[in-house]
Amino acid sequence: MGELVQGIPASPGIVFGPARVIRPPVLNVAHATVPPEQVEVEVVRFHQARESAIAHTAELRTRVSGRLGAVQAKIFDPQLMMLEDPDLIEGTITYISDSFLTAERAFSLRVLEFRSQWLDATHARVMDRVADLNDVQTRVLTRLIEAIESDPSEAEEPAILVARELTPSQIVEIDPDRVLGIATDAGTRTAHASILARSLKIPAVVGLGDFSQRVESGVELILDGRRGKVVIDPSETEKHKFHDRHVKAKENAKELAYLKGIEATTKDGTRIGLHANLELPADAEEAASLEVDGVGLFRTEFLVVGKTSAPDEEEQYEAFKQVVEIMAPRPVTIRTFDLGGDKFPLFLPPIIEENPFLGWRGMRVYELIPELFHSQVRAILRAAAHGLVRILVPMVNSVEEVRGIRAVLDKARAELREEGVTQGEVLLGAMLETPASIAIADVLGRHVDFFSIGTNDLIQYVLAVDRGNAQLSDYYDLYHPALLRYIREAVRSAEQVGVPLCVCGEAASDPLGAALLIGLGVRSLSCTPNAVLEQKKLIRSLDVRQLESFMKKLLKTETGKE
Ligand code: PEP
Ligand code: MG
Repeated sequence: MGELVQGIPASPGIVFGPARVIRPPVLNVAHATVPPEQVEVEVVRFHQARESAIAHTAELRTRVSGRLGAVQAKIFDPQLMMLEDPDLIEGTITYISDSFLTAERAFSLRVLEFRSQWLDATHARVMDRVADLNDVQTRVLTRLIEAIESDPSEAEEPAILVARELTPSQIVEIDPDRVLGIATDAGTRTAHASILARSLKIPAVVGLGDFSQRVESGVELILDGRRGKVVIDPSETEKHKFHDRHVKAKENAKELAYLKGIEATTKDGTRIGLHANLELPADAEEAASLEVDGVGLFRTEFLVVGKTSAPDEEEQYEAFKQVVEIMAPRPVTIRTFDLGGDKFPLFLPPIIEENPFLGWRGMRVYELIPELFHSQVRAILRAAAHGLVRILVPMVNSVEEVRGIRAVLDKARAELREEGVTQGEVLLGAMLETPASIAIADVLGRHVDFFSIGTNDLIQYVLAVDRGNAQLSDYYDLYHPALLRYIREAVRSAEQVGVPLCVCGEAASDPLGAALLIGLGVRSLSCTPNAVLEQKKLIRSLDVRQLESFMKKLLKTETGKE
C-alpha cells in the first residue's frame, strides 16, 4: 500500500502521475562587501533589478488578465506594491551604503527581516503575503545574480507538481496540458494559488505538511483534489483502482453530457432544483453550458481577497452583471462578502483574534466596512436590472441582523432611485450555517425571502471541528446524525413559514450527502459545476419515498425517540 497523506482540498479532480518536485531556485547570495567607491554602482544595480522585476510582474499581470480576467490579474498588485515599498527599498540601500554590502546581499537581508516578522503568524492572510514576498525575492535576486528563474511549466512529461508552495506567478505560467495536478506543503483553500488552480481546472491539494521533503521527482502519486488526499508510491492494486476510476470517470463524463437538457427529477417524479456554485465570474460560462436551474451561490470574495485596495462599486457591478447576463433568465444568488476566518483582505487593518472562526466573520464584518458593504449592495441592485438576482447574507444569527441588512438595502434602493440609476428587484436570503440560525429559522423565515444551508460551516459549528484542520478531517463528519437533525429542523421550519430552502455547502456535491439531503426533504441543491451532471444522474436514480422512510428510521423519528 502506498502512503496516504491528508491535506486541504484546494481544487477538485483525481489525477495519477509522476511527481515533479520544484525546489526554490538556489540563490546563493554570499556575504560580500564592496569598496566604498562602488556603493553608488550597487545602488544603481539594485534599482535596475527592481525596475526590471516590476516590468516583468506587470507583464505577468497583463497575461493573466487576458487569460483569467482583470479581477484575477489584480493578485499581482501586492507584489508590485512590495517592489515599491519604501521600507524594503530604503532598508536595502542602507545596508549597501552603511555596511558596504553588495546589492544582492543587502536585498536578501532586508527580505529576511520582513519574512521573519511575518513567519511567526499563522494567519492565512499573512501566509499568503509570504508567498508574494518569495515571488518578489526570486524575481529581484535572479536579476542581480543572473540565476535562472525556475519555470514549473518546463516539465517535459505531464507531471504532478510538488512544492513547498507555488507562487501566484508560477501558477499562472503553468501549461495545463503538462501539469496534471498540484501538491503543496503550505497554502490555504483561499490562497491565490488555490483560487487560480480552480480557475485553471488543475486538481490541487495544499497544506500537506512536509510533503515536498518526503517525495522525489519521478515518484508516482495519486492526487484526489476533491478529498484533499495524496497517495505516495501507490501499490499495483491502488493504481488499478485509480485507473478504473479514471476510465470510469472519463466514460461517465461523456455519458453524462446527455443529461444537460434533462430535468433533475427523481424516479418517483419529484423535481429537484439543481444550481451551480461559482467562485469567479469566469465560472458562469460552464454553469450556463450545464443548463443548471440557476446559480445557488456566487461567492464574491474574489473581489477582495489578496487585493491591496477595495473594489469600487463599478468593478463589482461589472462582475455581477457579467454573471447575471450569462445566466439570464435563470436566477443568480449573489452572496455578500463572507470575510473573516481565513479570508481577510489586505487593504483592511489585520484583526488579531484568538478564534477567528468565532470572531469577525461573515456579516459581522460589515460593521467594520460599512462603505464597502454599501457599495456591494448598490452594485448588486444595479446588476439586478439585467436579470433575476437574489442577495444571500452569510453567518446570520438573528432577526436584528436581518433588519440591519434590510435597512442598508432600503437605503441603497432609495439612493439609486434618487440618482436615476437603473436597478432591479432582489430577494433577500439568509445562509443557515450556524446552529443558532437553524434554531430560530421559523422566526428568521418571516424576515427573509429564502434560506440557503451552508453545510461547510454548519458542520464545523455543530460538531466543533475546525473545517480547515486537515488532521481533524475524520471528525469533520458530513453524515453525523447531529448535523442531519439540524438540517431536518431547518427544512421543517422553512416549510412551516413557506420559505424556499436550498443547500449550497459541499454536502450538495457529495453523492451520499445529496441522497441524505433529499431524504430529509431538501428539494434544491447548489453544487460545484463539475459535480452538477453526476448529481443529476444520481437524483434521477433516487426514490424520494424510500429515502424519506430511510431517514426517518435513521434519525429514529418513527419511534418518537428524538
Ligand atoms: C458553507 O459554509 O457551506 C458555504 C457554502 O460557504 P463557504 O464554504 O464559502 O463558507
Ligand atoms: Mg460558509
